[in-house]
Amino acid sequence: MTRTTPPRPVDIAAVFPEIAPLARTATRLHPRPGTPDVRSSSIGGPLLWPSDEPWPVCEEPHENEGDFTRLDSERRRRHIFSAAWGRAFTPAERAELDRDEEFADPDTPTTMLAVAQLFLRDVPDLVGPPGADVLQILWCPRDHDPFYCPAVMLRWRRSADVTDVLSEQPEPVVMEYEYLPEPCVLHPEQVVEYPYDEVLADDLRERIRMWEESGEDRYYRELAIADGWKVGGYAGWYLSGPVPLVCECGAEMELLVKIASGEWGGAEIWRPQEDAEEGELPEPPSRSNPPQITIGRGYSLWVFTCPASFKHPHGVSMQ
Ligand SMILES: [Zn+2]
Ligand SMILES: [Zn+2]
Repeated sequence: MTRTTPPRPVDIAAVFPEIAPLARTATRLHPRPGTPDVRSSSIGGPLLWPSDEPWPVCEEPHENEGDFTRLDSERRRRHIFSAAWGRAFTPAERAELDRDEEFADPDTPTTMLAVAQLFLRDVPDLVGPPGADVLQILWCPRDHDPFYCPAVMLRWRRSADVTDVLSEQPEPVVMEYEYLPEPCVLHPEQVVEYPYDEVLADDLRERIRMWEESGEDRYYRELAIADGWKVGGYAGWYLSGPVPLVCECGAEMELLVKIASGEWGGAEIWRPQEDAEEGELPEPPSRSNPPQITIGRGYSLWVFTCPASFKHPHGVSMQ
């Protein structure tokens, strides 16, 4: 099923023609529960990984102050919540949920966890190094300096090179429960975005503010940057204000992907038309956050890459 972002309530480029040249496309990924395979674009699905290539392990120091759990307990808990949706827990389910959590030792070395796999053929705004056709995103599902966020790893590869596929993917034993992605298939859709308001020229920004006076941050919330997981387009600087990420080589980094804590916010202006049926019992736990990832207090993790070279280290910002 395709997913269609509702038309914007206002064509901002018609109101302010000088913003038209700044329009940029982004691809919303629209993750929805499913059973992706190694040859699919996915979130929380299996990666196309060569059987003879070592699976990465995080070597960065960890902040051990979060909510630790074992990955297997978290899966069991989610399974029970899903099965019991719309009814009371059975005594057996209640007993399982009340069972003392097995000790999760935060000092356990952390195997990286598969987060997303994006094929160029599925994601129009994804640009990769020559020859590569798939981006794999892994992370260490623990908190790290300086933002208390998972440590992200990017791996580009040419899918034709992977002939002998790793059949059983390693997983960490211990994690913070908000960082386990549920398996989702993707329904990519291109949308048009405009810059975050604070990076616009002062004069234009001022006039947009005057125009939206009665419209409650209309540009900012409805017209500039899409909600949910997306590739490309503009970065939002909701927490810090604009702080461009600069690579060691001096180039300003560009947004690669936004890892979001939800697909649409309270206003639902970004909720796809196909997801708008009313009155139906919502699927657990939330129709608006199928991957079940939460970054901080519902923020997003914005991953940037250097336009000069894919070999330069990526950058990350939490906003
Ligand atoms: Zn780590
Ligand atoms: Zn660079």
